[in-house]
Amino acid sequence: MRFQIWPAVSVAVIALMSTVAAADEEVYRAVVADHGKPTVRVIDLADGTALATFETVAPAVVAKGTSGRFVYALQRDGDRIDVIDGGAWLEGHGDHTDLRTAEPAKLAAGLEGGKPVHFVPHDGRIAAFFDDDGAAQVFSEATFHGGGAPEVETVRTAAAHHGVVVTVGNHVLVSVPHPEDSDALPIGIEVRDAAGVPVGEPHSCPDLHGEASAGNLVAFACATGLLLAEPTADGIDVAFVPYPDNLPGGKITTLRGGSDIQLFLGNFGADGVTVFDPFERSFAFARLPVRRVDFLLDPANSGQAFILTEDGRLHRFDTLAARLEASAEVTGPYSMHGHWSDPRPRLAKAGGMVVLTDPDRGDLVLVDARTLRVDHRLAIGGTPYSIAVVGGTGEAH
Ligand code: ZN
Ligand code: ZN
Repeated sequence: MRFQIWPAVSVAVIALMSTVAAADEEVYRAVVADHGKPTVRVIDLADGTALATFETVAPAVVAKGTSGRFVYALQRDGDRIDVIDGGAWLEGHGDHTDLRTAEPAKLAAGLEGGKPVHFVPHDGRIAAFFDDDGAAQVFSEATFHGGGAPEVETVRTAAAHHGVVVTVGNHVLVSVPHPEDSDALPIGIEVRDAAGVPVGEPHSCPDLHGEASAGNLVAFACATGLLLAEPTADGIDVAFVPYPDNLPGGKITTLRGGSDIQLFLGNFGADGVTVFDPFERSFAFARLPVRRVDFLLDPANSGQAFILTEDGRLHRFDTLAARLEASAEVTGPYSMHGHWSDPRPRLAKAGGMVVLTDPDRGDLVLVDARTLRVDHRLAIGGTPYSIAVVGGTGEAH
């Protein structure tokens, strides 16, 4: 495999590392949705203090937006998305980065719509798809910084379905619903221009589920391969890359994209993962010892990923070599037998720590990403489930 590492990003990372000075402060907060109760808590990861608890209409899944400050509480059974200001974010000042903090808050502005599930921040905008509406609400979170409501543009499709929209520049990539069966997965992607007019014919992507971006590339997972979309001078190029014969039977249904290396990491079957190199257009497959519970492509270093398996072991996965490089037990077992949405751990990253929710014990588990040793546990109670981390390290002046 030959991966492209972006020079500009590498330089920025080196610059950031060299400016970690004594004056820098570190604040990480976890925004944690409970599995059973309609609440979202903001937890200070330094000591486990609950800084705030917000009520939602229904139990939520949390997702970060574009700026790193706001976390969205997607309530598929509550037909609503609430916006949580995590109150810790980084602000680039050119030669240095500032760490800014504020009281966590639930913003007055929220989004209403039928069954929000897929939520895609990309290219400075966010597209939240509402399955029952068969439409996405597209917005920028810039107005939230001043406490205002966003200007929302609605992108409609032909029918209610489990769909997705991704913004690319002033274009949008829109899922095409199955023509007869609204319960079936989408069958393709349509490119629309700034005026909402379809560009060319739709691109086939049977059983579309899972999307991610890495650099300027957007990828959608289909039953038979990946559909890649890349902006060009005069529009968007779309190409299909079929799964090769060296992969076992299966397909990607959850996809993550690299932040500093242009690669994609996907699930593949219950006990596999696959790495896609868009330059070689090659796939590498790795089988896990047992079934996978959750996985996380390191947001700070796409060369590694963390995978929790149902035996309660956390694995560090080398994405460039496509192999497990270290493993350690970090939670009790969480069998994948049962419903997909049963309470099981979810992973996030906070600086050098992998943070896991441990719903059985009501804990957050902080694991040293380098040694995979459990550094400490925070007993926060309840049934912690979906998690997003805000904050970072920067100058506080
Ligand atoms: Zn500054
Ligand atoms: Zn889905």
